[in-house]
Amino acid sequence: MVMHTVSSYRFESLEETISQLSKEDCQIIAGGTDIMVQHKSPRGVPAKFEKPIVFIDHLKELKKIYQNNQDIHIGACCSYSELLKHPLIPKILKVAIQQIAAPAIRNRGTLGGNICNASPAGDTLPLLYIYNAKIKLRSSKGERLIEIKDFIQGPRKVKISKDEILTEIILPEVQEEGTHFVFEKVANRRADAIAKISFAGSLRLDEGRIIDARFAFGAVGPTVVRFMDIEQTIVGEAFPLDNMVIDRVVAGFDRKINPIDDHRSTAVYRKTVALNLLRYFLKKRAFKEGHRIN
Ligand SMILES: Cc1cc2nc3c(=O)[nH]c(=O)nc-3n(C[C@H](O)[C@H](O)[C@H](O)COP(=O)(O)OP(=O)(O)OC[C@H]3O[C@@H](n4cnc5c(N)ncnc54)[C@H](O)[C@@H]3O)c2cc1C
Repeated sequence: MVMHTVSSYRFESLEETISQLSKEDCQIIAGGTDIMVQHKSPRGVPAKFEKPIVFIDHLKELKKIYQNNQDIHIGACCSYSELLKHPLIPKILKVAIQQIAAPAIRNRGTLGGNICNASPAGDTLPLLYIYNAKIKLRSSKGERLIEIKDFIQGPRKVKISKDEILTEIILPEVQEEGTHFVFEKVANRRADAIAKISFAGSLRLDEGRIIDARFAFGAVGPTVVRFMDIEQTIVGEAFPLDNMVIDRVVAGFDRKINPIDDHRSTAVYRKTVALNLLRYFLKKRAFKEGHRIN
């Protein structure tokens, strides 16, 4: 039997990694929990890659988490387990991360990998959309920033060049106090299962009125969806919301959300549950401070 070999690089620094990417088309591997599944091979047979692979998950430049004014910067190669332990990571993002896979995958999988894999069922994505997350990319030519909604184009489709690495995810102007968040994931089981539908919402209140509203749905289309025109219609409304306002908002989303049937769920189930989760959040009369982290 002819065994093929896989060439690989594991540089000491981000600089060297980027320099290699400027010279050669390579397959980036962070935690490998998506890419290795896509390159599954029989037992004992090395996975087949068309290009040389370049490991990035050990690069310390991609593992920093820091705050700059109100912006939180998260290194693309922070694993979920590292994010769960870090005090700067918003509580609601930890709520979502706790529901990803099982501990072994959370020890390997990275935030950057969840974004670049761009599955509409990716559990961190609805929250990153409502945080208006910015994606920082670096190549030998320099750095650029792009909003997550423009970066993600569809399943496994992101706006990245062959010579670029996602280095940081920036959550701009994080205001946890006074903002009430929700993240809901509906899957076959409470753990170790991919979402059939997910929902993230936030309401910011000031003196009994809504001053900011954001809602994002996962697994109802090729990308996570947010409809800012509908969000805007409840800004200025008194909280708790009147039933008529809730009906109007839910009807607005009903017209816009168009899920599909696939092996995980049906369009009808997805739409019904998505709208129920939205309605349940909008019907809240009061919010408890904080989120439970086990
Ligand atoms: C058993 C199992 C259960 C899972 N459960 C869940 C779940 O519940 N919820 C969920 O959301 N996901 C789940 N996943 C999917 C996966 O774990 C996550 O999407 C994870 O975040 C991927 O990160 P990674 O570092 O392993 O990505 P990798 O597999 O290393 O990379 C994924 C893709 O992103 C690219 N990439 C990665 N990092 C960068 C970067 N910094 N710059 C440029 N490109 C980059 C790679 O080239 C590749 O194309 C599961 C996977 C498995 C195997």
